[in-house]
Amino acid sequence: MKQSALFTKTRKEAPTDEVAENAKLLIRAGYIHKEMAGVYSFLPLGVRVMNNIAKIIREEMNALGGVELHLTALQDREVWEKSGRWSDEVVDNWFKTKLKSGTEVGLGFTQEEPLTRILSEYINSYKDLPKYVYQIQTKFRNEARAKSGILRGREFLMKDLYSFSRTDKEHEDFYERSKTAYTNVFTRAGIGEKTYLTYASGGTFSKYSHEFQTLTSAGEDIIHICDVCHVAVNEEISKDVSSCPVCSGALSRTEKAVEVGNIFSLGTKYASVLGLSYTGEDGEKKPVVMGSYGIGLGRLMGTIVEVFADEKGIVWPESVAPFRVHLISIVGANGEVVKKEADALYETLTQKGIEVLYDDRDLRPGEKFADSDLIGVPTRVVISEKTIAQGKLEVKDRKTGTVSMLSQSELFQDLQ
Ligand code: ATP
Ligand code: MG
Repeated sequence: MKQSALFTKTRKEAPTDEVAENAKLLIRAGYIHKEMAGVYSFLPLGVRVMNNIAKIIREEMNALGGVELHLTALQDREVWEKSGRWSDEVVDNWFKTKLKSGTEVGLGFTQEEPLTRILSEYINSYKDLPKYVYQIQTKFRNEARAKSGILRGREFLMKDLYSFSRTDKEHEDFYERSKTAYTNVFTRAGIGEKTYLTYASGGTFSKYSHEFQTLTSAGEDIIHICDVCHVAVNEEISKDVSSCPVCSGALSRTEKAVEVGNIFSLGTKYASVLGLSYTGEDGEKKPVVMGSYGIGLGRLMGTIVEVFADEKGIVWPESVAPFRVHLISIVGANGEVVKKEADALYETLTQKGIEVLYDDRDLRPGEKFADSDLIGVPTRVVISEKTIAQGKLEVKDRKTGTVSMLSQSELFQDLQ
């Protein structure tokens, strides 16, 4: 993409009421726009990152056997009353509104109820199970505090997967596999080493739920870590669990962290009240055993920013970066030659399937470099009269700051 095609421009200052580092940087670089507290629009650069995150998540959920659907955001009061979760006393973060007729509807903050009802129309026999269904969809939560930028939005994209199994054993097997899939997601998104499988307070059914917590000072949670097993215990339950749940050794470190994912065993709670049952091989009717598995896409994006950013701006891992290469032309006195070379390299890279942001704008070199550092594309390639004279390209790694003079073929090699 040519940078001249973007309507966004980088900004020196973030809105004065924005306190979170992730949002400050993402706003300044033109990834997101703050509509109001806890409500952010995703601009062209931001959408590219979100799409990359969604691609990783989809691949891992599909590999797990998940099938994608898309449920409505508007929620039918009736189905939520059956589970007891319509009441504001039970769920304190509902957004609710009214139809013209006066009928109250909600905006979904999760979707166990409607999905369980849908499946009850299709699942009859043990032969229909197990099933795994997921979506990437907008959730609404009337969060009391919204000071963490896109780590905590009032409207945000969530991947929510739901599992429907015949027995506890079948559920447990899937639940274990989901942990691996989640670990794969966070590893591929670049934060694997900083992310800990964390024992947290239970689902409706099991003793624990499991969170995936990523270390960052921006986190709102506190976790106690076992470095031997690379697992942790959430502060909330650490009074009951004072040693590592895996090796029983000491929990040696306490750190701030952000919950990027959460998996829950739900037992038969929702299936029982919403009539989702199947007839077993023995002819008996039984409720379906469920689990739910969430990842916040915006929260994951914000976490990556928090973890890797430096004093100059954002530093994206290649897997989620909006572009692989930031091509910058420095057009001096001999402008046409530089422009021709840069245009040609842009074409060649694009033809090779490498995604390039090409800064073709008429700006001073210093401004282009500062923008490039702020935007955080992994590899910066500069073409100037100087580089042309040397027959090389100036290639800078955003993460390490290493600059090398490479030939085109060496650059292609590096980008493989
Ligand atoms: P928290 O404790 O941080 O409020 P939660 O435990 O209520 O989150 P879940 O219901 O477990 O959140 O939602 C599943 C996932 O959705 C979370 O692990 C997180 O990644 C994401 N998520 C939850 N709330 C938000 C939010 N307000 N903004 C962005 N992502 C969110
Ligand atoms: Mg949670």
